[in-house]
Amino acid sequence: AKKSPTADVCYYKSWMKDKEKNHFSLARSIIKGLEKEEFISVYQPIFSVSTGKLMGFEALARWQHPDKKVLGPGDFIPLMEEQGLISKLTEQMLSQSLTRLSSWQEKQPDLFMSINLSAQDIQKPTFLSHLRYLIAHHRLIPDRVILEITESLLLSDWQQASNVLNALKEIGVRLALDDFGTGYSSLSYLQRINAAKLKIDRSFIQQSTQTGDSRLLQSIVQLGKTMNMSVIAEGVEQVQELNFLRIIGCDQYQGFLKAKPMLAEEVERDLWI
Ligand code: C2E
Ligand code: CA
Ligand code: CA
Ligand code: CA
Repeated sequence: AKKSPTADVCYYKSWMKDKEKNHFSLARSIIKGLEKEEFISVYQPIFSVSTGKLMGFEALARWQHPDKKVLGPGDFIPLMEEQGLISKLTEQMLSQSLTRLSSWQEKQPDLFMSINLSAQDIQKPTFLSHLRYLIAHHRLIPDRVILEITESLLLSDWQQASNVLNALKEIGVRLALDDFGTGYSSLSYLQRINAAKLKIDRSFIQQSTQTGDSRLLQSIVQLGKTMNMSVIAEGVEQVQELNFLRIIGCDQYQGFLKAKPMLAEEVERDLWI
């Protein structure tokens, strides 16, 4: 049926209103969820490629929404960033994950915990003091705490970012360059930031498996090694991928092949009996 122009406009307007309404109510329930601590960290184990040993975890956010199922970061992180709410999430993620780290280190002292940062986190004046407090409170060795940063975090305000990164170095925590190779200037920030770890985005693993052309993947691993970084592959789903990573000398991996992100209780139940 042919719609009249008027109907189209009407439809468009009511769609806009709906969208705004949803946006607004979602933002409101995010704020409420943060207050009620509905956001929890799950933990994806990271293993040594050569020995299979458990090395540490990446903390990943989930929303245990009271009347929905568990929501993943794609459902709330973009809006949190847009609304300036992400640093509140990061605070809770840091606090939860470092509490777990200190308890899990009693079973395995050399474990690390890796936490994702957003640009807003490093712009928040209390970020460094909160981090210092948590490390002291849990008596953690600072270099067991890894902060994952992306290119977009560095691009927002380079001068400020580099000040904060220097302060982080003084605290003694280490940095990981996340989603390496997916942005535009990965190589230049590899040079400017003295990060301990390089995380290869899943797309490079997939691409290598699907096309059989592994030259790029191999070169990224080489590059990381040349820069004296520990290289971590993400999204390893197949045993052939793991075997190949072993051949090319990749240090660590995470992926559904070995383990999905787990609740803290699952980590405690399944990883140490
Ligand atoms: P990321 O930092 O690249 O994290 C890795 C993502 O890959 C996670 O998705 C993880 O569940 C997924 N993954 C791991 N292994 C496999 C695999 O073998 N196959 C597949 N298909 N996926 C795998 P998740 O948890 O949905 O997180 C998505 C993104 O959301 C993260 O990507 C990160 O950028 C962001 N994120 C998650 N938690 C936080 C947080 O607390 N703060 C911030 N700022 N961002 C977060
Ligand atoms: Ca990450
Ligand atoms: Ca990543
Ligand atoms: Ca990724």
